[in-house]
Amino acid sequence: MHIRTFRVGSLAGIPILVNPSWFVLFGLTTWLLATQFYPAAFESAGRWTHYAMAAASVLLFFVSIILHELAHALVAKAFRIPVRSITLFILGGVAQITREAAKPVHELLMAAAGPFASFVLAAVFGGAWFALGAHDTRPIDYVLVWLALMNIILGVFNLLPAFPMDGGRVFRSIIWLVTGNHYRATAIAAWTGRGFAFAGIGLGLAAIVGRDVWVAEDPLSGAWLIFLGLFLENSARKSLEQNRLVRELRLYRAEDVMHRDPPIVDGGQTVGSLARGVLDLNPRVVYMVQDEGSLAGILSGYQMREVPPAEWDTVTARQAMVPRSALHAATRELLVSDVLLEMETEDLLHMPVVENGRVVGIVARDRILGLLRQAGLLPARVQ
Ligand SMILES: [Zn+2]
Repeated sequence: MHIRTFRVGSLAGIPILVNPSWFVLFGLTTWLLATQFYPAAFESAGRWTHYAMAAASVLLFFVSIILHELAHALVAKAFRIPVRSITLFILGGVAQITREAAKPVHELLMAAAGPFASFVLAAVFGGAWFALGAHDTRPIDYVLVWLALMNIILGVFNLLPAFPMDGGRVFRSIIWLVTGNHYRATAIAAWTGRGFAFAGIGLGLAAIVGRDVWVAEDPLSGAWLIFLGLFLENSARKSLEQNRLVRELRLYRAEDVMHRDPPIVDGGQTVGSLARGVLDLNPRVVYMVQDEGSLAGILSGYQMREVPPAEWDTVTARQAMVPRSALHAATRELLVSDVLLEMETEDLLHMPVVENGRVVGIVARDRILGLLRQAGLLPARVQ
């Protein structure tokens, strides 16, 4: 099942998305605060005051989470790493940063920015409470203190060296800085992350069967810990897999895998004249479409199959192609790992390889995946 996220706005040009699973976290936190935490902490207030306090707390806490993610995103943008979105989901928030940092120091700053923002927010909420007299008699006192504490917890928790959490990224960047080896740093950090994840799952299980294990003293927090552990384990394992793929792909450059001298066709030719008899023999055919002597776009089997056969004799190459403006060009020397990353980020199937303004070849995503399959790094048949 694929659950769709929706957009609620944007900050600094970065879309803020909400995954529907986030409502579980929102509802559960509000309910726990309104019916358990605030009634126990501030007995003299009425039921509706507790609900209002819970609502204010949860809203401001999610603003805090967005600001934590925004801090990561702004540092990433400062290092010219594109950020696709900030997404709220059941475990909190995540900034979708499209690519790895080029230097360990960049990663260190990018990862540390989030917890730093959380500590600043804790100081702001704590400072506001102090400025208002530091009482414990009004609802706002409880809300501000709760927000200060939660931001401290968020910052500290994220600094655990459990990759891919922030602390794990800081840990990786330090190993990377010391060893100069990104592959080894990722492997060490990801295995450490998996260790933390397994420990979390174990502690969660202990809490569920009734043991009081400091980090989780009841079955609900135990279940939460197991869920978080499984999520972390899965992310760390994916990072390990990706790490191996990247190492393999760094052995090649665009010119090693490009399709040289792709057939050049005229924009006015019909899809039928280009597809008939060809698609069956060579489903991966790629044409360069020319208009008045220059590259207008790329037409591959994929685009031709999108055209219903009944329209093959009326639709032209120019109409069916991926236009030049939607293409991202590579240079001959570009590492294939970077080519694939760009293709994944931009959802591309082909990238022309350009030299001195002239197209010298085309790299197809299929070809790269084929390399990985040959190296035994991908299952034999993946589409
Ligand atoms: Zn973070």
